[in-house]
Amino acid sequence: MALALEEEHRHLAESVESFGARADGIAHGRAHSARLAAGELPDTWDQLVQQRLHAIHLPEQHGGDGAGIAELAVVVEQLGKALYPGPFLPTVIASAILARAGASAVAAGLLAEFAGGATGAASFRSGLTAERTATGWRVDGVSEPVLGLPGADIVLARALDGAGSPVWFRLAGGASATITAQDGVDLTRSIGVLELRGHEVPEADVLAGVTDADAEWLRNTLFAAEATGIAAWTLSTAVEYIKTREQFGRAVGSFQAVQHKAAMMLVRAEIGCAAAWDAARAQEHDADQRALVTAQAAVAALSAGVDNSLECVTLLGGVGFTWEHDVHLYWRRAISLAALAGSEELWAQRLGELAITTTRDFSFVADDTLPALRAEVAAVLEQLEALPDDAVRSEGWAPERGGSRRALLAGAGLVAPHYPKPYGLGAGPEQQAVIAQEFAARGLTQPTTVIGEWVLPTILEHGSPQQQGRFIDPTLRGEIVWCQLFSEPGAGSDLAGLSTAARKVDGGWLLSGQKVWNSMAHEADWGVCLARTDPDAPKHKGISYFLVDMKTPGVDVRPLRQATGFSEFNEVFLDEVFVPDECLVSEPNQGWRLAVTTLSNERLSMGGALGHGSSDRYRDVLAQGAHSCSRADAVRALGHSTSREFALSALNLRGVLARLASVEPGAEISVAKVYNALAQREGSRDLLRLLGPQAAVLHPEADHVIDHIGLPAILFGGGTVEIQLNVISRRVLGLPR
Ligand SMILES: Cc1cc2nc3c(=O)[nH]c(=O)nc-3n(C[C@H](O)[C@H](O)[C@H](O)COP(=O)(O)OP(=O)(O)OC[C@H]3O[C@@H](n4cnc5c(N)ncnc54)[C@H](O)[C@@H]3O)c2cc1C
Repeated sequence: MALALEEEHRHLAESVESFGARADGIAHGRAHSARLAAGELPDTWDQLVQQRLHAIHLPEQHGGDGAGIAELAVVVEQLGKALYPGPFLPTVIASAILARAGASAVAAGLLAEFAGGATGAASFRSGLTAERTATGWRVDGVSEPVLGLPGADIVLARALDGAGSPVWFRLAGGASATITAQDGVDLTRSIGVLELRGHEVPEADVLAGVTDADAEWLRNTLFAAEATGIAAWTLSTAVEYIKTREQFGRAVGSFQAVQHKAAMMLVRAEIGCAAAWDAARAQEHDADQRALVTAQAAVAALSAGVDNSLECVTLLGGVGFTWEHDVHLYWRRAISLAALAGSEELWAQRLGELAITTTRDFSFVADDTLPALRAEVAAVLEQLEALPDDAVRSEGWAPERGGSRRALLAGAGLVAPHYPKPYGLGAGPEQQAVIAQEFAARGLTQPTTVIGEWVLPTILEHGSPQQQGRFIDPTLRGEIVWCQLFSEPGAGSDLAGLSTAARKVDGGWLLSGQKVWNSMAHEADWGVCLARTDPDAPKHKGISYFLVDMKTPGVDVRPLRQATGFSEFNEVFLDEVFVPDECLVSEPNQGWRLAVTTLSNERLSMGGALGHGSSDRYRDVLAQGAHSCSRADAVRALGHSTSREFALSALNLRGVLARLASVEPGAEISVAKVYNALAQREGSRDLLRLLGPQAAVLHPEADHVIDHIGLPAILFGGGTVEIQLNVISRRVLGLPR
């Protein structure tokens, strides 16, 4: 959970982290808060400059190191984690704005000063107005609070002209300009307002290349990077504390309510980090893309700093609320960042407006990547388009059955390209992305085997060659549909408590018991079934994994009607069902190991599109004017929904790139599962709020209400949210039982 993914960035982060530790910013900030608030430099500023941390992003021709905003963000994050005091952040924001503005004479001179260690600040929001004069502009007014303004050597200011257009200029001193320091919420930095009265700005001081869009992108990105550092520090501080603090005779970190709070802190930190990372990598993307990440950084990352800080305080108890504990210093800084970026709701609205017509491009392969594979896939898809549509759809969630198109794709390894040959193409993330692009370019959907998606990897990994030959290809061809017979009335989350029994008989096993909530069992040809083969063994050890032909005598499938009114899951009664020996996967009593199917076999997941409460649904509601609230409210809701989708996509993309860079996978997968469920729940609920009275009536063509009622399929799938939070608490955060 850090911005740095690539090796180079990780080294940079390590070196900045050790600078941060040496600088001991927390102690320095506490001891010298009055001096810092007045704009004085921290004692370690010269060392920071010697280490070139202030100039990493500045162009080489102006004395900088020529790296990018992604590298600068790594530095900001690490210094944020160390609560490095003083004007570092406002300085690098101001210098990055100038560097991006291009090489006017005034900018070149200022950049050289920045490279030499000058400090800076940028005033974004104006109460300043500019009037044309013969030699430039006359500016009047009082700015909003500006971070780092008191003490800044170089000030970039922004005023609005008579037409409401921004005029950016460097501030020269003089009697007409007054800077007043204010009492900042963040005790470790200066903040103040700029008052200009008849202040003359010569044309030479106008920063023509600076745009609001670029300036806001840089500010939000670097604020988000610092908030990421804060979210990480507060998480590790809370986790460290609850592992050792004891109440009721045990570590408080062993209480589930406490564990889930800590797990949610990790989720927030990862989401914020992904948003900050995505914003930082947008340097070379086009202006529309940067506008999207600018808003997303404000919506998704800045709140993570504030929310995690408060949660850290609650987990620390009374001690967290004391002046002596450092957490309030981080909390204050997080509040200050979120406030200075502007209202989260306004950014959500901005994101919503943008999302009506554009979306973030999360692709990570260029159009010309792997041309040979592209040509191979294109040739298959061309053949496919010449074939008649399979059009043999089953009902509900069941996949298509058979058909010539499906057979062609299965034969070409394109139904599950990540499987090894001959079933797939052994495709890694890059190849899978190229294949997905080729399908998408033709408006074709990649087929899915639905429950086969997690049955087949188990057979591939643990099944006999005979089982693989018998089941894999027909499933990929859509000739076999699977169901999963795991849950039982007495064994849900605690699946290993199952009681369906398998008794050994000549040539096979007799299965008896009851399964429940089995999706598609009424349509399935085969089921994977867990049954107890050794009742005397500890509960995880006496279970076996069977492949059950659903037409075997003794299998009784009874559809259950769900809250939606549809019948997609079932209860399945097994009465002395004979399963031949060749349908036991692996050895008897090894079933638990198989049931915990390895995540490494999961299909590459790039999408952030949510099944429930998706942004597409919001867009439709807006297009049809179906909202009963104001358009602005509906657009804001679209902005929040878009933010949730972007967060998931960025998280997924980071996971994929980490795999490509051979970095140990972090907590992305567990976090994505929890966040995905929560995002769908929130998105779907928000959608109902927009609809007002229309949500009291069923609309068969676009039923958001039934979609909402269908949420449990997501909330329970692959383990409930609570179970996922248990996994994060124990396996990722290492909290005690
Ligand atoms: C639409 C749908 C489709 C499904 N399809 C299938 C299928 O195809 N095959 C199949 O085998 N199963 C299927 N299931 C079952 C699903 O896996 C279970 O519903 C799920 O594992 C939860 O079990 P349960 O319903 O018995 O709830 P319980 O385990 O009884 O849980 C009840 C509540 O207690 C919470 N809880 C339980 N234990 C803990 C704990 N240790 N810590 C914190 N909270 C806890 C849960 O989170 C939940 O909120 C499906 C379920 C749904 C809703």
